[in-house]
Formats: sequence, structure tokens, C-alpha cells
Amino acid sequence: MRKPIVGGNWKMNRGTPNETVEMLESLIPQVEGIDSVDIVIATPFTVLTSAYKVLKNTDIKLGAQNMYYKDKGAYTGEISPQFLKEIGVEFVILGHSERRDIFKESDALINKKLKKALSMNLKTIVCIGEHLEERETGKAKDIIQYQINETFKDLSKEEMIKTVIAYEPIWAIGTGKTATPEQAEEIHMFIRDLLSLKFDKETADSIRIQYGGSIKPDNAEDLFNKNNIDGGLVGGASLQANSFFQIIEAADKSIR
Ligand code: PEP
Repeated sequence: MRKPIVGGNWKMNRGTPNETVEMLESLIPQVEGIDSVDIVIATPFTVLTSAYKVLKNTDIKLGAQNMYYKDKGAYTGEISPQFLKEIGVEFVILGHSERRDIFKESDALINKKLKKALSMNLKTIVCIGEHLEERETGKAKDIIQYQINETFKDLSKEEMIKTVIAYEPIWAIGTGKTATPEQAEEIHMFIRDLLSLKFDKETADSIRIQYGGSIKPDNAEDLFNKNNIDGGLVGGASLQANSFFQIIEAADKSIR
């Protein structure tokens, strides 16, 4: 049985210490008692410390939205995984489509970051997904297969099991256009089959695959009820405690 995981990706949308503390202080009492779902909040780097102070005695895990693959050095503007660990970060999102598309991160770079994060015992949420044009021309599965092969290149079974995959069709991110539960489930099953071929069935069955792309309180339950969808990565709807809580609740219900 895979434990669902719901992650909030605040992107660059909520970034002052006050609003961070306010949102988290409102979320904490709402999720108290929900222990069947892993909850992660990935804030901008600048408020990770403020978030940590509020979250440290709770079950909500702190996440970062990116990192570099070196410990330290002349890498202006980058953040070391060591720095993240030192301030209490447990999870890091890697390969988000905005990193891939806007900042031109390649699968090879994401693979280096992933190996580094795993070597430092940081838990990872690795994003993959196709563009609209790729879906419309029937190439979605080819793209997913390529990303799985390259992003997870040379990972051991043990490393792979520690990795959460977020399937995020890029055409559904921030657009209000969600994949239907059937469209998402089809790709999640495809990913699990690929993992089974690359590793083995037991490994594939234990890896959590989240869906991401315009998840809202009113569509979360139908998505999470699908067998191969193990929670979600949430952008817009994670900015407000109430909507994020309703999505977490949907994940909680999906395993009952
Ligand atoms: C995301 O940023 O990973 C995401 C899925 O965003 P949204 O929920 O806003 O589509």
C-alpha cells in the first residue's frame, strides 16, 4: 500500500515571512490527525527558515523547489543541498517544467541533481510531463519514456524507491485545464510499467507517482481515487490553507 503524498509548490507566489507564517499557522490545526497522507510544503528559499520554525514540531514536511548538485563553490545564485539540509529541509522538487522550460534544465542536469540529493538523504519529487503539442501529436508516451530513462539514469532500485515522481502534463499546469482522471491514470500506469521493466514489479509498485496540473478541491477526489495516482503536486491551490487542506482531505479519503 503506497502512502499518498500531497505537495504544495508555492513557486514565486508567496514570499514574505509574515504571509508564510500566517498560511502555515492556519493549515496546521486543519491537518492535525491526518496521518495517512504525507504533506510537503515547498516555499521559496527566502522563507524556508520562517516556515521551518512553524513546521518543526508538526508532521508537515518542508520542501525546497530546486537545488544545485554541488556542495559549495563559485555558483552565483545557486543553492547547495547542504545549505538546505542545515535549515531543516527534507524534500526537494527537481525538474519542474518551469525549470526545464524557462531555465533550460536538461534531463542530464536533473539526473545529477537527483543523485546528489539522494546521496545527501534529501527526499525528492521529480517532475516529468509532456507539452500540449506533444500530446496532440501522439508523442506523450515517447516523451515520458525518454524523461524516465534520462532523468533516472543509473539509479539503483533502493534510490528509485526513495524518489517520488510527479506526472505533470505541462498543458495542465496553471492553466485551469486538468487532465481527466482517465488521462492521468493512463500515463501513471504507463510510468509504472516502465519502472517495472527498468527495475522490477515490486519496485515499481512501491514508487509513489503524484499527479500535478490544476488540482483543485473539486477535482482532487476523482483523481486520487485512481489506483495509480498517489496524491498530487499542487501549485495555485496550495497558496490558501483552506483549499490545500481540502485537497489533502481528498487524498486521505482516497485510501479509506
Ligand atoms: C505545479 O506547479 O506543479 C502545478 C501543478 O501548478 P498548478 O496546480 O497551479 O497547476
